[in-house]
Amino acid sequence: MERIHLKDKYFVPYIPYERLEKAIDDVAERINHDFKNFDGIPIVLCVLNGSILFTGELMKRLNFPCEFSSVRLSSYEGTLSTGITRKVLGLTSSIKGRTIIVVEDIVDTGKTITDLYALLLDAGAEDVKICTMLLKPEVYKKDLKLDYVAMEIENRFIVGFGLDYDQLGRNYKDIYILDKRTEEKAPMKHYLIFGPPGAGKGTQAAKLVERFGLRHVSTGDLLRRQIAEGTELGLKAKHLIDQGLLVPDEVVEGMIAAELDANPDVKGFLFDGFPRTTAQAEHLDTILADRGRKVDAVLSLAIPDEMVFERIRHRAQIENRADDTKPEVIQNRIDTYHAKTEPIAAFYKDKGVYQEVDGTGTIDEVFEKLCALM
Ligand code: 5GP
Ligand code: MG
Repeated sequence: MERIHLKDKYFVPYIPYERLEKAIDDVAERINHDFKNFDGIPIVLCVLNGSILFTGELMKRLNFPCEFSSVRLSSYEGTLSTGITRKVLGLTSSIKGRTIIVVEDIVDTGKTITDLYALLLDAGAEDVKICTMLLKPEVYKKDLKLDYVAMEIENRFIVGFGLDYDQLGRNYKDIYILDKRTEEKAPMKHYLIFGPPGAGKGTQAAKLVERFGLRHVSTGDLLRRQIAEGTELGLKAKHLIDQGLLVPDEVVEGMIAAELDANPDVKGFLFDGFPRTTAQAEHLDTILADRGRKVDAVLSLAIPDEMVFERIRHRAQIENRADDTKPEVIQNRIDTYHAKTEPIAAFYKDKGVYQEVDGTGTIDEVFEKLCALM
């Protein structure tokens, strides 16, 4: 028995046919015993499609007079008065006054079998016995008695011997189980948000992390947190800041690596205010590559310089920073921004991950555009 591949998943051997055969022998023997002196002719009812192989195997072991019929259950639709949301389809003979032995492939929550049980009694069956090849006892929570269970299994997804994954796999004579290695979660995503002062980066970043389950990584926040927590990195950073020095790249990058490793369960990260130079962009690539990850998209909020100018001046007025309202100071900040970020934009354009969004609309308009890019 080999691993099998169905669509996007792999399945590994779980129950070999020989074990199934023995379990079917046993369950058939119990049914034969119970129906040995039955006066009447029961209908063995195959629930299509899953039970087709099991019913065949079971039928040829039954040694009392019985008829065969098959049925399908519609998937959920409008609710009937009984509270049941399904219908019996294609019942191949009348069941009025008859004893039915329902043959199911697998009972999981029991929703299917309890619905079918009620529908058959409703259609006039005299008595309904249930035989299932497999049962997941950990999940079965219904009161309905399952008369014959060939085998119990753990609560995992299986295919083969009639059971399918998206209609495939029914033809295998052994039963296979979903390979845990293919149940891995989606790869983590890494986004960068870029934009001049006043472009609305902080506002959009907060909305994006919420919508997409990302972790917001702002180097300013990280530094403040490390310092507050008195970590080794934090102490190093504080020492430098206290002397009026810039925190060197290694320290910032160390913090980012630590932040990535401290959040293994998020869907991804949104970097805000980092990288500030192409050297940092290259280091970020290395940090991510070391973890088998990469920058997926750079989201750049574009607004015209005149608007940046107005927003910076407005902010400075509100915050009462007279110096910052001087045109030459503001222009200098805008020039610095262009000088520093343009090479980073070029770096990511080269990699084909740079995306620019018109940042001049309302918060919601810009957010919708960003979402479309994600
Ligand atoms: P229930 O209504 O008991 O929750 O689910 C029963 C139906 O779900 C079965 O008839 C079968 O179609 C499907 N099912 C439940 N567990 C499995 C499984 O592990 N593998 C496959 N292929 N189908 C299953
Ligand atoms: Mg089924």
